Amino acid sequence: MDQRLHAARLSGSRMLSPRTRHLEFRVKGASRFDFQPGQFLSFKALDEAREFTRAYSIASAPRSDSSFEICLNRVDEGFFSNFLCDLPVGGEVSFHGPHGFFLLKQPVRSSIFLATGTGIAPIRAMIQWLFAESGRHHGHEFWLVFGNRTEEDIYYADEFAALAVQHPNFHFLPTLSRPGSAWKGARGYVQEHVRGLAQGRTDLDAYICGLKDMVSANRDLLIRQLGWDRRSVLFERFD
Ligand SMILES: Cc1cc2nc3c(=O)[nH]c(=O)nc-3n(C[C@H](O)[C@H](O)[C@H](O)COP(=O)(O)OP(=O)(O)OC[C@H]3O[C@@H](n4cnc5c(N)ncnc54)[C@H](O)[C@@H]3O)c2cc1C
Repeated sequence: MDQRLHAARLSGSRMLSPRTRHLEFRVKGASRFDFQPGQFLSFKALDEAREFTRAYSIASAPRSDSSFEICLNRVDEGFFSNFLCDLPVGGEVSFHGPHGFFLLKQPVRSSIFLATGTGIAPIRAMIQWLFAESGRHHGHEFWLVFGNRTEEDIYYADEFAALAVQHPNFHFLPTLSRPGSAWKGARGYVQEHVRGLAQGRTDLDAYICGLKDMVSANRDLLIRQLGWDRRSVLFERFD
């Protein structure tokens, strides 16, 4: 693993919900930053005498410049998430990477993307990459089942809804476990909607990202209950 340190400067920061932020960085001294959609970076910082390292998935597709984006939750009592959420625009952080093997399979097939919370980060990067060029998605169908508690937690909802309008082969299915009374969309956990999409299909891949209970429940459903080949089920766990 290449652990050479780079510095990134925060160029933009906005709230996605009261506890979640979207951060935009530029790698210092680089005209371009190469990575693959789905990869993460290992950020490093000092708190008094202790050094902390934490992984954050890149939430944007690679560009022709040195920019990248992440999204993260504030964790109670957590050092790194609060350090990053409080970083002022212009502030700097060290990191090494990109790392990780949560990558789109090649050749790309029709796929189901399953995410909860900030697990949307690497999946947003993959979806941005797929729909940036017609040749990457043409002839395939893609479903994003995005699970959250309430409507305010559906990060990037406008972006995914606009993509679904623009591309009939992209299907956006946000599902809420604690919706308000006005919510007309899907309800319940991600796995409650997967069976209907996945049953009897041997021609799809699945990409799952979130906390371990959600990842385990969906892997179990696809591999053990529905008999999918485990090589078609890729996942990233945040805990
Ligand atoms: C490959 C990978 C990619 C990741 N990408 C992202 C990302 O894109 N966005 C993101 O928000 N996080 C992501 N994480 C999680 C992130 O690395 C940290 O674990 C998280 O931000 C907490 O770090 P902290 O230093 O603030 O808290 P810590 O000091 O590590 O923990 C403080 C307390 O919070 C609990 N805790 C730790 N992590 C979580 C969590 N994720 N949710 C709830 N409670 C937790 C701990 O058990 C502990 O009690 C990723 C993790 C991995 C392994």
